[in-house]
Amino acid sequence: MARRPLVMGNWKLNGSKAFTKALVEELKRELDGVTGCDVAIAPPVMYLAEAEAALNSCECSCQTKQIIALGSQNVDVNVSGAFTGDISTEMLKDFGAKYIIIGHSERRTYHKESDEFIAKKFAALKQADLVPVLCIGETEAENEAGQTEAVCAKQLDAVLNTLGADAFNGAVIAYEPVWAIGTGKSATPAQAQAVHAFIRGHIAKHSQAVADQVIIQYGGSVNDANAAELFTQPDIDGALVGGASLKAPAFAVIVKAAEKAKA
Ligand code: PEP
Repeated sequence: MARRPLVMGNWKLNGSKAFTKALVEELKRELDGVTGCDVAIAPPVMYLAEAEAALNSCECSCQTKQIIALGSQNVDVNVSGAFTGDISTEMLKDFGAKYIIIGHSERRTYHKESDEFIAKKFAALKQADLVPVLCIGETEAENEAGQTEAVCAKQLDAVLNTLGADAFNGAVIAYEPVWAIGTGKSATPAQAQAVHAFIRGHIAKHSQAVADQVIIQYGGSVNDANAAELFTQPDIDGALVGGASLKAPAFAVIVKAAEKAKA
């Protein structure tokens, strides 16, 4: 089944108002003419307004504007009320955000987010008609202990066993081995493909149709030099990109590599 690739930039805790405006404008120029790949950016939520305004300005190509969707790096499970510091699905929708990253290893590690809590975020996003980008992946120690598949299965099961396989209709999974994030040490295309095939197969145990359509991105030190080879793999449907998403030319090379590989 042909799946439309998705390349998403996770800007993490980087940027400023000026940086956001400049990077979005540069991305619009660099991505002009791209039609065969969905693209999203997740700036810090502080700068969603700047990003939205820059995407909607007509100084550059209006066609490019349409292919860059807005996203967020996190969301809370609550919609409103006494939850200091949190951000709701409705607030994200107010800025036109669509793709929402949940379960990133940095949140699992630094904010102690559990599989169960992440499944609740997944449910909140589905309820709000937003697209969950569910990050899963093993640590280096788990990898060396041969636990990669068991870890990924457990992280997927938290959603599958509470919401059912249909929740993955229209959703995105990002396989991000923790040892590859920000380290410059990407998984090889063959390593990543093996895990992506396992993830798709795990969902297929519940529903083949859902498994066939779900977008599975690879994330972990993807850059302009290694992206094309990763995208040759049949179950790698795009990338979640950290560091390289902060430089428009590198990010554009990754997007265009996905477009070409999946044409
Ligand atoms: C990420 O944070 O999702 C990520 C993949 O980072 P990097 O590309 O920098 O490894």
